[in-house]
Amino acid sequence: MTAPDFPPCTRCGRVLRWSPVTWPEGPICATCRTWALETYGTCSRCGTERMVPGITPGGEGRLCTDCADIPGCYFCSRCGQEGWIQRKGTCSRCVLTERLDDLLDDGTGTIRPDLVPLYDGLRRASRPRTLFTWTGREHVQRLLRLLARGEAPLTHEGLNRLTPPRSVAYLRDLLMHHGILPHRDRHLIFFELWLEQWLADIDGQDRREVLERFASWDILRTLRAAADRTGVGASRDRNARNALRQAKAFLEWLDERGTDLASCTQADLDAWHAEAFLARRPAQKFLRWAMASRLVPRLMIPHRSTANPAPISQNRRVTLLRRAVEDEDLDLLIRVVVVLTLLFAQPLSRLSRLTLDDLTDEDGRLSIRLGDPPAPVPEPFANLLRAFTAQRPNLTTATNPGARWLFPGRRAGQPMDTSTLAHRMRRAKLPAINGRTAALRQLTLQAPAPVVAQMLGYHHVHITALAAEAGSPWSHYAPDDHTE
Ligand SMILES: [Zn+2]
Ligand SMILES: [Zn+2]
Ligand SMILES: [Zn+2]
Repeated sequence: MTAPDFPPCTRCGRVLRWSPVTWPEGPICATCRTWALETYGTCSRCGTERMVPGITPGGEGRLCTDCADIPGCYFCSRCGQEGWIQRKGTCSRCVLTERLDDLLDDGTGTIRPDLVPLYDGLRRASRPRTLFTWTGREHVQRLLRLLARGEAPLTHEGLNRLTPPRSVAYLRDLLMHHGILPHRDRHLIFFELWLEQWLADIDGQDRREVLERFASWDILRTLRAAADRTGVGASRDRNARNALRQAKAFLEWLDERGTDLASCTQADLDAWHAEAFLARRPAQKFLRWAMASRLVPRLMIPHRSTANPAPISQNRRVTLLRRAVEDEDLDLLIRVVVVLTLLFAQPLSRLSRLTLDDLTDEDGRLSIRLGDPPAPVPEPFANLLRAFTAQRPNLTTATNPGARWLFPGRRAGQPMDTSTLAHRMRRAKLPAINGRTAALRQLTLQAPAPVVAQMLGYHHVHITALAAEAGSPWSHYAPDDHTE
């Protein structure tokens, strides 16, 4: 038995499983059709501002239904707007509105007043389809109803009691994004949620109390300061948990040895570290705090250097940068990450916080603010960055339309996670260059950005002049000063 042969979708090339809808350009699948019917802009042929589902024959412009000769009527019988007709003459925005009217009803037949900004924000989203799917999930509906009817408090603490965590986190981001909840660092929230449960599970009241004090006086203080400054981020969250786990392990270990914090000796401390130095090193934060708080006698904390044994060579750096410029099969995002990491010795945690405002393009000369003064970005790297800023990912996500992040994440108002960036680097089979910032900085001093550009053979006379004008710290590098 063979399946009937249907032609592939002209836009995405997917083989269709049933007889497709055909537009003048050819057969088009349901996904591509919905996407097209949620696209608005200026028609390249008649210049009208409206829905532009069509594509010009050359592929460079968009066309309205009239100019593209797309059959059907796309004006909503309810709101009169043009759009994807999701159900019986009703556009997807009206269908979504109808659902939100129900979900966000406070029980009196109106939207709960506090939630109006969320209601308006969701209805304004450029692609209602995504939100229709999201609000169709059973647990999302349950969460929205609980909040709308006041059965769960509309506060950060109220959300902490709700599940499942992933949906709650997404909803929390939306509520912060629309100004309904005050802004709070999400990794700090994750950590606090984890901490509460972790402490509750600890055996022994004394042990729990000392760890609780350590957590609130040391760990949480550091994290809150970080949240105010640059954001906590996944790695600080992870390190904080690790420090607490190792602190607990240390207390248990002392217990097994028949001793405790107050009677801990240098021999105990040496023995603890000798057994597994690297794994146990996170406990040192606790030890320093415990000594400062006089819970432990003043002892020497063993130290061992753990410098990265395999530094990246200049040659490797330049080879990877060449690949970033030339390998068009590589994802543009990855190419830009490689350039910023290797050219300017920046860790992923810093890159993820960059915004469009950190880039200045004046008279065709691009600078990036990684410190003060901004560093000039030589060609061809500048062009790569320009191309990327014009097509950043995750902007079409309904919740992230106006993001200023250079690497916008999927969550409302959030940049892409460093772990996502690192994962994409690994998937592209690139060597682990994150976490080698110190070694890279050394290479950057030997061969700064303009010099690398020349080493790659992209000779641009204006580069040195440009660096000098921008007051770059590299301006004293002569073009030939890269021989060592
Ligand atoms: Zn398609
Ligand atoms: Zn037109
Ligand atoms: Zn409508």
